[in-house]
Order: sequence, then C-alpha cells, then structure tokens
Amino acid sequence: MTGEVNHSLHIIHCDLDAFYAAVEQNDNPSLKGKPVIVGGSAASRGVVSTCSYEARKFGVRSAMPAAQARRLCPQGVFLPVRMERYLEVSHQVFAILSDYTPLMEPISVDEAFLDISGTQNLFGSPEAIGREIKRRVRSELGLTISVGISYNKFLAKLASDLNKPDGLCIIPYDRALEIIRPLPVTRLWGVGEKARQALERLGIKTVGDVQDLPTGWLAERMGASGQHYWELARGIDTRQVETHEERKSLGREVTFPEDIDDMQILQKNLAAFSAELCRKLRRDKLYCSTVTLKLRYSSFKTINRSRTIAPSHADVVIGQVADELLQKSYRGDSPLRLIGLSLGKLSSAPDWEQGGLFEESAQYEKVDMLMDQIRRRFGSRVIQRGNQLPSRGDD
Ligand SMILES: [Mg+2]
Repeated sequence: MTGEVNHSLHIIHCDLDAFYAAVEQNDNPSLKGKPVIVGGSAASRGVVSTCSYEARKFGVRSAMPAAQARRLCPQGVFLPVRMERYLEVSHQVFAILSDYTPLMEPISVDEAFLDISGTQNLFGSPEAIGREIKRRVRSELGLTISVGISYNKFLAKLASDLNKPDGLCIIPYDRALEIIRPLPVTRLWGVGEKARQALERLGIKTVGDVQDLPTGWLAERMGASGQHYWELARGIDTRQVETHEERKSLGREVTFPEDIDDMQILQKNLAAFSAELCRKLRRDKLYCSTVTLKLRYSSFKTINRSRTIAPSHADVVIGQVADELLQKSYRGDSPLRLIGLSLGKLSSAPDWEQGGLFEESAQYEKVDMLMDQIRRRFGSRVIQRGNQLPSRGDD
C-alpha cells in the first residue's frame, strides 16, 4: 500500500463519445449529422440519457428533462433507450480495451480505466496504446472514444474530457499542475453545486486557487472533503485501478444505468461475459473450476451463487453454467442494478483425473481456439456465438 508513488504515464481512461446517440447513428446511418436525443421516456425517468454533438449545439444536455430538450431542439430525433444494444456494443469495446492489459476497471457502460504498467514492452508507449485503442474502436466498431493518459485516475479521467470528442490528451507529471490550474473547481472529483458555492464563499473558484492554499487550510474549513479537494488540485490521487478480480479469479460485472428485469438482456450479458472471460483464460492458457454469478437488486441486496465444474475454458460450458445459475436464482421478481460473472480456482492445466467430464469441454476447445484466431486477425466483431447476436427487431 505504501511505497513510491508511480509518476509515469500508466493510467488510461477511455470514454466513448455520446455513446448511446453514436450507437443509434451507427446502426442507422441516416441519423448521422442529425441532432439525436436518446431517452426522455417514462422508462428513462423522463430525462435525456445522451444526445449527439449536433444536439448539444442547441443546448441539449444529458440529465436534462425531455420536455426542455424538446423546446430547445424541436427538430431533434428523439429515440427510446435501447439498453440491450448499448450493452452489446459496450462488451465489444471492453473486449478491445482488455487486449492491452489485464488491469481494466469498467466504471460504466461507456467508460473504463486501464492500468498499463508492465504491458508497455508488449504494446509500445502509453500514447501508442491510446492511439491504437482509438483506431481499433473506430475501425472495428465505428465509434469514437476519447482517451486520457496520466499517472493517476483523477488526472486520466480529467484528460479524457479535455479534448472531447475523439480526444487524446496526455497529462504528464511535470506539467500536471500547470495544465489543471485554470480549470474551475467543479473539475475536482466530488465538487458538486453545494461544494462549489462553499468554495466560492471562501474566494476559491479555480483549481489554481486551491493549489495555492497552504497545507491544511481547506481541511480546517471543510474537513475531509477539503483535504480531498486540495490533494486532487495538487495532482495527488492514490486510488488503484480495481479489476474486481479476486486473486486466482477472473471476473466481469456491469452496473446498469437503469435497473433491469428483462431475462433476455441478463442472459445476453452473461453470454458476453462468458465469451470474454473464456477468451482471456484461453489466451493465458488457464482453466477455471468455479463459476460464480453475482446479482445486485435495486435494494442493493446482493447474492452470489457458485457452482464447481470440471476445469474448462470453453464458452459453451461456462456460458451454460452461468445461464443455469441465473435461471435458478433469478425469478424477475425485483429488478437488478448489477450482474456479474466470475471464474475462480484458476489453474494452468486441467485436472486430467476428471477426464470424463473434461472431454465434454475439450470438444468445444477447438472451435473456441479457431474463433479466437479469427477474431485476432479480423477484429472481435467478426465472429460471435449465436447467443450474443442481436435479437430480431433490434436494428
Ligand atoms: Mg461517455
């Protein structure tokens, strides 16, 4: 926990631009160049979820009441939220990102942190990795993604936002304080409207104003959050990229922007997680012996259900176990805010003692290996198993 703070550029924050609207424009090219506004129905709590950059010119913003958006932009194309489709594309994006490091922390459907320490020998400089991610997301998925690179999470996230859309911004250690100095205090994590007003009463408006305060001054007046703001303004943020992976396990989970009780969507998510995690296992020549499903309800009640299996890294086997766990433990009675899948008891060779059971997964192994090869050559979108394909009526 203690020790040297790493001031090299090793954290990348990736944030898709106007994600839902961009997916809609991608899926329906006649919407390109038009003000597209996603959300606003009762299901999305009456507010705009995302709008295209064309709509932003009219002053439309996400989280704005739909009625206000209609007044500002009557010619806008208003579309319902197609969460299932966005999650599908989100999985494809995360699959690309996870090619560059095992240390990936998705923080929403369209954003993730990567810690690339140790992978630079393989993939080049942080900037080269950032450019390659942008290139692949554009060529394989037709989307633009903004990339911020720095030496901690706060600055990487701030950087990805500085040149949006389609940005690539690097904040190196020796220039960090100067780069963030002119920004308003609301750029500091945790400074909302209330804190902004409180800071303004103290005569503090910019990040630079905070930087110039003596140590402890803000903490005396605003407590722990004051200390937090001061540290961020000085470019100090010690949070690590957290992958939600326990030791000896591999996992993926998603927090839905809106709670979900649609079994089909949940199943597709699990199928995508299985495919992604199995691909990583095969890449690292690992097998798993436990499959754990995690469900978190709207009430924040969380349950985990596990099953022990013969060592496997076959999509079909893991995917089926995950699906069975879901069918058994979720009855659609109350919507979910999070679903996750983790594969545990990883080993580098299957336990041949359990040969009988292993054969079942061995027969799928060749198919999976072949699919991995095709994906590597032609991109991760080219080939998917049937259970990950869009359902009829999506497009
Ligand atoms: Mg975004």
